[in-house]
Amino acid sequence: MFETLTQAPSDKILALMGEYAADQRSTKIDLGVGVYKDEKGVTPVMTSVRKAEERILSNEKTKTYLGIAGNKGFGAAVLDLIFEDGLDRSRVRIAQTPGGTGSLWVLMQLITRARPGASFYVSDPTWANHVPMAKQAGFDLKTYPYFDTETRGVKFDEMLATLNGLKAGDVVLLHGCCHNPTGANLTPAQWDQVADSLARTGALPFIDLAYLGFGDGIEADAYGTRKVIASVPEAVLAFSGSKNFGLYKERVGAAILVARNAAEADIANSQMLNVVRGAYSQPPDHGAEVIRTILTDAALRAEWETELTEMRNRMIYLREKLSAAIRERSNSTDFDFVSSHRGMFSLLGLTNEAVEKLKQENGVYMTGDSRINVAGLPEAKMGELADAILAVSR
Ligand code: PLP
Repeated sequence: MFETLTQAPSDKILALMGEYAADQRSTKIDLGVGVYKDEKGVTPVMTSVRKAEERILSNEKTKTYLGIAGNKGFGAAVLDLIFEDGLDRSRVRIAQTPGGTGSLWVLMQLITRARPGASFYVSDPTWANHVPMAKQAGFDLKTYPYFDTETRGVKFDEMLATLNGLKAGDVVLLHGCCHNPTGANLTPAQWDQVADSLARTGALPFIDLAYLGFGDGIEADAYGTRKVIASVPEAVLAFSGSKNFGLYKERVGAAILVARNAAEADIANSQMLNVVRGAYSQPPDHGAEVIRTILTDAALRAEWETELTEMRNRMIYLREKLSAAIRERSNSTDFDFVSSHRGMFSLLGLTNEAVEKLKQENGVYMTGDSRINVAGLPEAKMGELADAILAVSR
């Protein structure tokens, strides 16, 4: 049987993690893997999460099945978090999923049932996993212009021109906030134009919201998602609780569909639940129950928001530190874009060769496209890092 298989492509980030672990230099710096790290380089369990877990452990009465859509209280709390009271819930259905990746997968399968082989547009570039997932679902994968390698901002006019040329039945994957890998994001005014365009063309927005609260705060980060979904008759949204609740390994996310009316929402939901039933039957509960517990308790929610703000502010602070260190040394504003980007990543715009040199000569690890995880920036060694980046970019 297995002799018919060929080697699958290896995951570049996992390979990079292995290389970093094997590097014996004590000065090495990990800007590769996409997890938040504190000043000690640790990805901590948030205190609000720890407290919720203690409550769950002492109060849980049963381990019985929850059902295909998972934890219902979690679903309601996530919709309140993302939309507050700004969306008519009769048109919305939500299924708890194993991680944001699980929700992307479930929603892709759902759309494939409605429109097999649809044109599926992703930003150029996008999160590496979007591409094989969309291909595997059988979509006709296309890109829309996004990152301007000169300005390191968004090529908005070109992006909008492509979106304006789409038609009903096409699907457009949008990063709700904190674009991965670039760190370049749309302004509220640009989101308004994207929403108008989608409303006019009838293309289906597929929003990936994996970093809510990591950019400029929950409200600011939800702006684009709220605007787009308020403007169109139908949309899907993949939510992840991995980063903003620090629940990476617990695998918690949600697949959300918005239909034209309640009757169509019910039918689409029956298909979405049918996809889940045939894949993993029901999602694991723990991470979802943690998020439900936090979001439905005023004190825990306030504590979580404080912790989220601390993570966000630390990333913004490190962005400013790196930009300033490079500015001081080079007398140029060429890397100021790092401080205006938002989220966990920035694409530095270095060549593959420069990235390799940083790794070999300085023990600085980032993905081959020169994406850095800003949470990994070393505050105490920012000067050395700035020197190394300048040396390879000259
Ligand atoms: N979408 C984007 C853009 C991401 O960067 C990630 C994680 O890195 C995910 C979705 C999925 O996250 P997870 O499956 O870990 O919840």
